[in-house]
Amino acid sequence: MDADLTRRQLLRGSAAGVGLAVTAGLATPAAAAPLGEYDVVVVGSGAAGMTAALTAAKRGLSVVVLEKAPTFGGSAARSGAGIWIPNNQVLLAAGVPDTPAKAAQYLAAVVGPGVPAARQEAFLRNGPAMIAFVMANSPLRFRFMEGYSDYYPELPGGLPNGRSIEPDQFDGNLLGAELANLNPPYLATPPGLVVFSADYKWLNLALVNAKGAAVAAECLARGTAAALAGQKPLTMGQSLAAGLRVGLQRGGVPVLLNTPLVDLNVENGAVTGVLTPTGLVRARRGVIVGSGGFEHNAAMRAQYQRQPIGTDWTVGAKENTGDGHRAGQRAGAALDLMDDAWWGPAIPTPGDPYFCLAERTLPGGLIVNQAGQRFVNEAAPYSDVVHTMYDKNPTAPDIPAWLIVDQNYRNRYLFRDIAPLLPFPDAWYAAGAVFKASTVQGLATQIGVPSAALKSTVDRFNGFARSGTDPEFRRGASVYDHYYTDPSVTPNSCLAPLWAAPYYALRLVPGDLGTKGGMRTDARARVLRPDGSVIRGLYAAGNASAAVMGHSYAGAGSTIGPAMTFGYIAANDV
Ligand SMILES: Cc1cc2nc3c(=O)[nH]c(=O)nc-3n(C[C@H](O)[C@H](O)[C@H](O)COP(=O)(O)OP(=O)(O)OC[C@H]3O[C@@H](n4cnc5c(N)ncnc54)[C@H](O)[C@@H]3O)c2cc1C
Repeated sequence: MDADLTRRQLLRGSAAGVGLAVTAGLATPAAAAPLGEYDVVVVGSGAAGMTAALTAAKRGLSVVVLEKAPTFGGSAARSGAGIWIPNNQVLLAAGVPDTPAKAAQYLAAVVGPGVPAARQEAFLRNGPAMIAFVMANSPLRFRFMEGYSDYYPELPGGLPNGRSIEPDQFDGNLLGAELANLNPPYLATPPGLVVFSADYKWLNLALVNAKGAAVAAECLARGTAAALAGQKPLTMGQSLAAGLRVGLQRGGVPVLLNTPLVDLNVENGAVTGVLTPTGLVRARRGVIVGSGGFEHNAAMRAQYQRQPIGTDWTVGAKENTGDGHRAGQRAGAALDLMDDAWWGPAIPTPGDPYFCLAERTLPGGLIVNQAGQRFVNEAAPYSDVVHTMYDKNPTAPDIPAWLIVDQNYRNRYLFRDIAPLLPFPDAWYAAGAVFKASTVQGLATQIGVPSAALKSTVDRFNGFARSGTDPEFRRGASVYDHYYTDPSVTPNSCLAPLWAAPYYALRLVPGDLGTKGGMRTDARARVLRPDGSVIRGLYAAGNASAAVMGHSYAGAGSTIGPAMTFGYIAANDV
């Protein structure tokens, strides 16, 4: 179904009476033409929005998805699409020893008492049902990300082998012409390869590890097989968004691109529709807001988040500017967790920043602050590393911090998409994202860090690496720390000495995958006012709502798993 067709369908939609009581937003709201009427209006075509729309449609409700961007999929399409849903059927079929009791114990331990137990329970109960529903009502299939540990596997109920799944390979031909409207990935896979998120761990090691080489060969074999079969293979977020979109196509749900929510329509205290620049779309039963985070809204970031912050370090979809948050607020919604985000250290490379996952964890690297001192376990969950950066920055400046590596590290491991042995791009040097020197002291001078301090930090770190114990930050003490490491390095696969010149320093800033604060919701995904009362007709899911993860991050996929689940819950409630 193409965008033109769906727009024509919308314009034909049954026009509701006018008599608008618009809260705010449009310059001339009274002039807004009624554009159509549906049972459910969904805002945003990301993980939350498309799952909600699919669910509502399968209940037999009439549904439309309004999407601001000229493409569909949002950050979800850009993402690695890890999905953290305990006890789902894919995990259980793979033999993961999960139980509802273990999952409840773990989630409660991770998120703490700040997240109402009823919301935690709703997520854990509905998550497996959501996965089963998506598999039954779309061509999406999923695979277990074996070994991708929960982020705190030592907490009660934590699983060191993980609870994350990701979409299976998907043939883009199933989308027909709509494939051209799929939001592109954050990092394109090299042509001819079919790569899953779970492959990255091994591709980093392809030069130094037999399994790494075998996984690289497997990626090539998948790519070759797909080409011979005439397929357009999609994986990760591309597969997730395309698969959900095919589900919507089959369910006859229009997705209107270039059609932003400008405001919510409120009548007698209830939300009854969405105002767009071209008019009002009425919702008989309710509006489900899945408009993503506010990562690209500089004013909101400055208002709610710690400094320094801006919009240059996020990798989230650029249309995510908190429109749903602001419209929700105008309708009376409370906002929570606005200071937080799905953080991770990023290298401010030209163009998109690079969200640095494996590179800060692999042996042969350490992170220092501006005094040349380590300040964090480099292999800790990415969100925690940035929380620590912000906590410590006022007294011991670490924004930017520096990832220090040596040539031995560069000879062994992939760095982003730069093969081992190859130089970092000139543009990175020109942008000040990377520096190089023949000695540690020379490197310190280049980055403005005291040279004696950096030399002494590296020497001390090298001693830890030889002994295999990091008494300062316990790097390698958690099973999670070892996910992105090199198993051939002993006695601690996270730690190797830096000894081979030249040495490199990569600038690290607080990046994010998107923000996690938003409208306060209850266990039914209904939006709440500050006094706890429900705003009738208004639901929120995904990054437009305050995360069920609270200030934490349970495992790989802790944003998409809950986004899809609360989209599903909202659409079953509406
Ligand atoms: C590179 C990258 C990798 C990631 N990897 C993972 C991962 O492996 N696992 C994981 O769990 N998370 C991951 N994330 C995070 C994850 O993608 C997001 O947190 C998730 O997609 C949020 O879902 P959402 O539906 O709330 O928002 P999105 O998926 O961003 O969708 C929001 C949609 O709303 C639209 N929109 C915005 N404003 C309006 C408006 N006014 N009107 C109409 N539409 C609007 C946007 O254009 C967008 O299409 C990653 C993110 C990135 C960028």
